[in-house]
Amino acid sequence: MITSPIWRGKRFAVLGLARSGVATVRALVASGAEVVAWDAKETARDGLLTPSFLRGEGRGEGLSQATPLATAPLPTLSPAGRGLLEFADPETIDLAGFDGLVVSPGVPINRHPVAGKALAASVPIIGDIELFAQARGDLPAHKVVGITGTNGKSTTTALIHHILETAGIPARLGGNIGKPILGEEPLSAGGVYVLELSSYQIDLTFSLDCDVAILLNITPDHLDRYDGFAGYAASKARLFSMQSPEHAAIIGIGDTASAQIARGLSARGERLTKIAPGVCMDQSRWPSLQGPHNAQNALAAIAACQALGVSEALIDQGLESFKGLPHRMELVAARNGVAFVNDSKATNPDSTAPALAAFDRIHWILGGQAKSDDLDACAPHFGNIASAYTIGEAGPRFAALLAGKFPVEQSGTLAAAVISAANHAVSGETVLLSPACASFDQFRDFEDRGDAFRAAVAALA
Ligand code: ADP
Repeated sequence: MITSPIWRGKRFAVLGLARSGVATVRALVASGAEVVAWDAKETARDGLLTPSFLRGEGRGEGLSQATPLATAPLPTLSPAGRGLLEFADPETIDLAGFDGLVVSPGVPINRHPVAGKALAASVPIIGDIELFAQARGDLPAHKVVGITGTNGKSTTTALIHHILETAGIPARLGGNIGKPILGEEPLSAGGVYVLELSSYQIDLTFSLDCDVAILLNITPDHLDRYDGFAGYAASKARLFSMQSPEHAAIIGIGDTASAQIARGLSARGERLTKIAPGVCMDQSRWPSLQGPHNAQNALAAIAACQALGVSEALIDQGLESFKGLPHRMELVAARNGVAFVNDSKATNPDSTAPALAAFDRIHWILGGQAKSDDLDACAPHFGNIASAYTIGEAGPRFAALLAGKFPVEQSGTLAAAVISAANHAVSGETVLLSPACASFDQFRDFEDRGDAFRAAVAALA
């Protein structure tokens, strides 16, 4: 776990006890902080009181005392400097004197009442990435790469991590991907932390000076949490305002908002890399990085690894051996020359479009719970489609929209669509699940849908 002497004797309230909240409480308490923790769910609170947590798992230090009483006063720190834990809802206690209110990125701080309370008490509202930034001074010498953008964050983060590992550099994934960063063992000297950062996480971070900061793109998203699109874009821009000017900035300039942020950083000179859209390059040796969107992700990863001093040869090796992430244009099988590709993560037409651009002769499985009334974003790539198979709630509407453009079958279920598409596809063609819809009408989540696709392909005779 990552601990820091700077938290000793400080007081934090932690709201939200899912994985990152638990790791945060653990790290703070092991560092000698006083922590008031809360989650509306009693089971989440109880989860903190497991014997392994009370022992401080993996560390010599544990809790001095834990009390589930919301009204109990905070006990004083023990002489050994161990921290203390108490349970109380931050909304119901006096926050004056606290050094931070740590919330999970899922808490809508733009409208949650606790935010106003913290503001009134002059308590900073932060997240676990800010705590990581604060602890950096006590970690062995290291670098941090931060990756943000509306689309492509996970892929680019995983790709950079993979290239670094291929190059023999100790590297760790964190932020919006993988395990909570504060729960991880610190890297040895020379290591690189590769952090995927959603805009919510950036909003809760104030002192993260990334050695390399990447912005892939900004398109309208999450607008319920921001004061319009400008507010969302401003959130992403803060990744660069937290950076020292001599550190590297990498920005995709395919949209107006990102291009404007890049213009604002022109004083960085050669430390600013701009990635133009539509760059034509040979991706044939990168099986898991197909399509124009992955060209952008690969270029960002290449620039980041160059800035970290990785050789061209090792970068090439990493790009070639990258396996991709599950559910994002994932090749799950090749049968009789037909590729079966799982892109279940594409939950709106904008994220399906690049998958349609990546292959020709596609048997396209789409549908589910629609997020939009049309498929306009996909239309430029309809020439690549051999036939379509609709599923779920949006199936009939999408079938009507696509009728006459290419053959369309209303398959209804994913299992039926896979069987039908496999029967029609011939060698050299691709069966692609890229639904352009949320999954909740028929599946638990996009992962469940992708797993069902994989199972249906495996079950083909
Ligand atoms: P994120 O973590 O930002 O959600 P992912 O890497 O998980 O991004 O990709 C999510 C979906 O977005 C993928 O299915 C893919 O179709 C699409 N996508 C990936 N990279 C990009 C990009 N650079 N630009 C636009 N769309 C992308």
